[in-house]
Amino acid sequence: SCMTSPLDVIRVPVLSDNYSWLVHDADSGETMVVDPGEAQPVLDGAAARGWTITQVWNTHWHPDHVGGNGAIVAATGASVTGPEAERAKIGHLDHGVGEGDAVTLGAHRARVLAVPGHTAGHIAFHFADDDAVFTGDTLFAMGCGRLFEGDAAQMLANMRRFAAMPPETLVYCGHEYTQANGRFALVAEPDNDAIRARMADVDAARAAGEATVPTTIALERATNLFLRAPDAETLAARRRAKDEFRG
Ligand code: ZN
Ligand code: FE
Repeated sequence: SCMTSPLDVIRVPVLSDNYSWLVHDADSGETMVVDPGEAQPVLDGAAARGWTITQVWNTHWHPDHVGGNGAIVAATGASVTGPEAERAKIGHLDHGVGEGDAVTLGAHRARVLAVPGHTAGHIAFHFADDDAVFTGDTLFAMGCGRLFEGDAAQMLANMRRFAAMPPETLVYCGHEYTQANGRFALVAEPDNDAIRARMADVDAARAAGEATVPTTIALERATNLFLRAPDAETLAARRRAKDEFRG
């Protein structure tokens, strides 16, 4: 809302191609991290800014998203919020949440979206008033997560929820997969000028060692084959083809 300062969101590269996201609210002094795949780079990133992590939010149970929970809790006493449906697989989970729950960082409120498919209990965090969504391994820049524990119909429903968000919404996802996703997208939709233009930017950014996320809902509507899929069969076929694609 207009009485709160904007959230400060910092990208922290962890492991080989994961991103953890440090989110700071200056009004309350709270700092949260989404999906700390490992602890030290996240703790260092917070310390460099004089921030202390008070909360950890997990999108799903995979170790590259929760592996840092224990060390961050030990170092800071932070509380851990994540999918109740995956409680048995997530270490240190304090607050189990699901569809429709509200979670807060200071006065900033995020709504929990159940977005199954990559894992059965996968959730996303949507800060509607801040035009930000943390999508974990569900929506990527030009891609979507692999269907390990769910099906294409579920993923299509997720994509439609993301597509319905305001176009300026910033999408903070869990991996730097954009270039590989875009190479596949160019093969699947060779005449899509928006994908071609975007890939020129992505290739330049990667050549310079720069990140390509966050992305926006507007960009994904124009260039994401999975968000653009007209039906579950099409999404399933694209997902299978992407699983086998070696670009
Ligand atoms: Zn994952
Ligand atoms: Fe992951």
